[in-house]
Amino acid sequence: MNNGVSILLFGPELPSAGELTTCLIEQDRIYLPAYKQNVNFSELEARVGSFDHNQLQLFWQHQDQGWLLMPANPDAQKTLVKLLPKKEVAGLGKWKRATLGQSLVWKSIAYSLCSLALLAVLVIWQYDTAVSWVAGRVPLATEYKIGESVLTSLKTQTSLIDKGVAVDAVKKIGDRLTNGSPYKYQWHLSNDPAINAFALPGGIVIVNKGLLEKADSANEVAGVLAHEIQHVEQRHALKNMITSSGIAAAVLLVLGDANAVMMIMAHQVSAQYFSRQAESDADMKGIALLNKSKIDTQGMVTFFKKMQEAFKGKANGPEWMSSHPDTANRIQAIENYIKDHPCTDCDRLKWDKKVILASLEKKKPR
Ligand SMILES: [Zn+2]
Repeated sequence: MNNGVSILLFGPELPSAGELTTCLIEQDRIYLPAYKQNVNFSELEARVGSFDHNQLQLFWQHQDQGWLLMPANPDAQKTLVKLLPKKEVAGLGKWKRATLGQSLVWKSIAYSLCSLALLAVLVIWQYDTAVSWVAGRVPLATEYKIGESVLTSLKTQTSLIDKGVAVDAVKKIGDRLTNGSPYKYQWHLSNDPAINAFALPGGIVIVNKGLLEKADSANEVAGVLAHEIQHVEQRHALKNMITSSGIAAAVLLVLGDANAVMMIMAHQVSAQYFSRQAESDADMKGIALLNKSKIDTQGMVTFFKKMQEAFKGKANGPEWMSSHPDTANRIQAIENYIKDHPCTDCDRLKWDKKVILASLEKKKPR
C-alpha cells in the first residue's frame, strides 16, 4: 500500500495542461480516487516522455477514450517505477533500458562538454587573459626556482658582484622600494659595462656596473629599479615564458610539476623583450611605487632622457629602453603621470657616486 503518488493526469474533459492529482498503486492496478477509475496494469503502456527524455508516461484506454498519466515530480517517478511490475506493464522494461542508457550517454556527453568548455574558455577568453590567469597561480616558490636557474646559467657568462659598497647602495634603494612585497628580492651587480638592469622571475634583480657609472643620483637608479621591480610584481617575465612555452607547460607549473620548470626554462631566452603594454605598465606602476616609497620621481625622467640620448639611432637599447621605438612617448607619459600625481614629501636620496665607483674599480672582471 502507499499514500498516493502525485501525478499529472490527461484525459477527456481534463485541462490540456493536465490535472494535478494522486493515484494509488494497488496489487494489480492503478486506482485514481478522484475519478473512481481503476486501470489494470495489463491495460497500461509505458512510453518515454517526449519533452523530458527520462520521463515516464503511462497510456491506457478507458471507455474508448485515451488517457495518460505522468509522475508530477522526480520522487513520484521513482515511486512509480519502483512499484509498477515491469513484467505486467507493457513497455516498462523497454523504458527502463532506454532511460538508463540515456543517462549514461548524457553523462559521457556532459563530461565531454565540460572538457570542451574548459578548452573553449582558454581559447575564446583571449590568450593573454589565460596566460595572466595561469601566471597568477604559479606558486612563488616555483617562480623563484625559475629565477634561480636563470641566475645560475647567467653566472657562467657574467661575473657578479654580491658584496661591497655599490651592492649595499643598490640594496638600500631596492629594499625601500620592495618593502611589504611578497617577493624576497635579491640584488646583484654585474661587471658588465652596458648601461642596463633587468629582473628575473621571483625577484632577482641584476644591475650592471655600466648603469651605476651613468647614473648621477640615487633617484635615477631608483627610477630604473622601480621599473624592473614592477616587471617582477606584475609577473611579466613569467607571462612571457608561459606564452612561449605554452599553456600546457604552464598548467604543470601551477601544479608544481618540476619537469614544467625545465620545459619553461628551455624556452627562456637571456634577452627578454616585453610588449609595449608591459613596458608602459612597468613605467606607470614604477612611478606609483616611487611615490609610495616617498622617493622623488624626477630621477626616472632624467635617466630615461639620458638613455634616449645615449641610444639615439641604435637598435639595441637596454631592457627598459628596448621596447619599440617610442621612447619619447614613454617619457611624455611618465611626465604626465608625475604631473597628475605629485609627491610633495618625496625625498632625494643620497648617492656618493665617487665612493661607489671607487669600490667597483677594485672589482676587476674575473
Ligand atoms: Zn622594462
